Amino acid sequence: LFITLEGGDGSGKTSIIDELGRELEARGIPYITTREPGGIQIAESIREIILNPANTEMDGRTEALLYAAARRQHIAEKVEPALAKGITVLCDRFIDSSLAYQGYARGLGIDEVLSINLFATAGRFPDLTFYMDIDPETGLSRIAAGQGREINRLDLEDLSFHHKVRDGYAIVAAMYPERIQKVDASRTKQEVTADIRNRLAAALKD
Ligand code: C5P
Ligand code: MG
Repeated sequence: LFITLEGGDGSGKTSIIDELGRELEARGIPYITTREPGGIQIAESIREIILNPANTEMDGRTEALLYAAARRQHIAEKVEPALAKGITVLCDRFIDSSLAYQGYARGLGIDEVLSINLFATAGRFPDLTFYMDIDPETGLSRIAAGQGREINRLDLEDLSFHHKVRDGYAIVAAMYPERIQKVDASRTKQEVTADIRNRLAAALKD
């Protein structure tokens, strides 16, 4: 099973991944957790280039291609080998991030970004995606309060960019209604965790 977590900055993806891992662990299902951009050395190096606050000249198409390149290497080196062994993969961000951020929020076009990503992924899609929906004010305030991660180049974007990301996710979620489950991430961590663990349990029954 290939499961991905999506959502805006500060929506809680990274901490929920650990909770999903515990649910799988309790069921004796072998799994790995990983993230994008990154997950393996080459992709982590690409991540540093993309997120480096000094790289203010980064062209939008270059950025989209770098995300796609990092994704390709991560899939080839880590995701596909794990899935081939029957290991469940829990991934923090995947293709939907590119569609929402680069395709919609950056204005490159969802279809165009999808096409470079179909090349990168060779058609591999997640089986299930939890989209952590939160209004950007709340998400960004969580990061500012230190509940998130290090500051990066994207933190220089204004609030309107993050609203566009959210609008982009809404469009992408409507494109893939069977795969993408929207989760209200504005609730407490306990509530979100219980909700997602239940949904995962239901998905494992099918
Ligand atoms: O999820 P994570 O914090 O690792 O993402 C790092 C940064 O990269 C975030 O600020 C996120 O907004 C940005 N990002 C992006 N486009 C993507 C994926 C992530 O702008 N496709
Ligand atoms: Mg995170």
